[in-house]
Amino acid sequence: MKRHENRSKNITMKAYKLPKDKVTYNYRYFLPYAPEWGDEKFCNQRLEELLVFCKDAKIDAVQFFVNTLPGTYYMPSHDAEEQRYWSEWMKNAVKPALAKINVSYQLNLQMILGASSCGLDMRDEYEWDFLVNQYGDESLGCACPLSVKFRNVMGEMLKLWASTTPDIIWIDDDFRMHNHGLGTPRGDCDFYCYCKTHLSEFAKFAGKEYTREELVSEVLKPGEPSELRIQWMDFLGQTMTESAAWMNRHPRQFFYVA
Ligand SMILES: [Zn+2]
Repeated sequence: MKRHENRSKNITMKAYKLPKDKVTYNYRYFLPYAPEWGDEKFCNQRLEELLVFCKDAKIDAVQFFVNTLPGTYYMPSHDAEEQRYWSEWMKNAVKPALAKINVSYQLNLQMILGASSCGLDMRDEYEWDFLVNQYGDESLGCACPLSVKFRNVMGEMLKLWASTTPDIIWIDDDFRMHNHGLGTPRGDCDFYCYCKTHLSEFAKFAGKEYTREELVSEVLKPGEPSELRIQWMDFLGQTMTESAAWMNRHPRQFFYVA
C-alpha cells in the first residue's frame, strides 16, 4: 500500500511572500482590451481610469482576469496565438503604467481546465483530451490535466502570459475534479477523472488495474472509506499537485490557487 509514500513526492512550489504587518489591497479586475471589448481609445481610457482608482483607493496590486474566449466566460482560449495581441498590450502598456505608480501587476488565469461549457458541445474546438466522468462520459470541452496534448497547448498559453512578467499568476477554481457542468443520467454531481490516462496511472500507483465501474462503486460506498477509496483519493490529490507543479515550472515561477 503506497498511499503515504506517494503523498508528497519532492514537489515544491515557490510561495509569494506577502509583506509583513501590512494589509495588501489586491483588486481583481477585468480590463477591456481591443478589439474584442472596444476600440483602443476606450481601452486606454479604462486603463487611465484604473490608475486613478488605484491611487485614490490606495490599491497595492491589481489581479487582471485573463479570459478571452468570445461566447462563453467559462472556458479557456483555444491557443496562445489567440491571446498574443492582448498579452503584448499588457506587457508593453499596462504593466509599465502600474509600475509607475508602484502597483503590483498580477494575472488571474481564470480558465485552465475550463469550468463548464454551459451545455455547448465544444469538443471540436480543442486539441486536447477531455475529462471523463463517473459514467464514462466526456466533458464537453474541459481538459484532463494529465493530457499531453493539453499540456502542449496550455503550456504555450502559460508561457505567453508568464512572458508579461507578472508578480503572481493566480489559478482559479476551475482547476478541480468535480462540477464541470456535464449533466448525468441521475442528475447527480459529475466527478472525475476516469479517462484512460487516469486509469492507467492509477494502476501504476496502486499496483493493480481497476475499471472505472469498480472505482466508482468503491468511491460511493457508504460507511467508512475502504482502502481502495483512500488510495484513489490520494492518487487524485497527487495528480492535482503534480499538475500544479507543472504549471509552476513556467517562467516567473509564482503561483497561487485563488
Ligand atoms: Zn483524465
